[in-house]
Amino acid sequence: MKTCPCGLPNLYSECCGRFIEATQIPSTPEELMRSRYTAYSQANMDYINRTMQGPAALGFDVNEAFKLAKITLWRKLIIKQSSMEKNKGTVEFIAYYTITNQNHILHEKSEFILQNGIWYYVDGQTFLNEPLRISRNDKCPCGSHKKFKKCCDAIF
Ligand SMILES: [Zn+2]
Ligand SMILES: [Zn+2]
Repeated sequence: MKTCPCGLPNLYSECCGRFIEATQIPSTPEELMRSRYTAYSQANMDYINRTMQGPAALGFDVNEAFKLAKITLWRKLIIKQSSMEKNKGTVEFIAYYTITNQNHILHEKSEFILQNGIWYYVDGQTFLNEPLRISRNDKCPCGSHKKFKKCCDAIF
């Protein structure tokens, strides 16, 4: 059985698939964040498009994003922290991806708003989005305090 690309030990159909392919709506920013990561891994720009608003949507070029998504292999999502208060929320995460054999790390804090009962991605602060240059004995960039070779290196 195939678990969800977002990394939770759940079936896709019972995890992000509920939001991407069925009628359920994410009830937290983290659920939305995870489902958007999964949708990116599927190059599902329709879902990406309809789950964002504000600055994020303004700067979004769906054709460019689709082209990029088609050549990107999303490896792993690590949620560092998520919060919500009233109609706002944030999710800080690390994601690993590979483009043309080059591994990358993305570290971002995403912002979300709740509008008419639906969460949307509206903006993000990128701390890091670069080729992964790390030796196997270095500390893992995911923050686990393990060596890279004993931690996230296993996903590549
Ligand atoms: Zn999922
Ligand atoms: Zn790690």
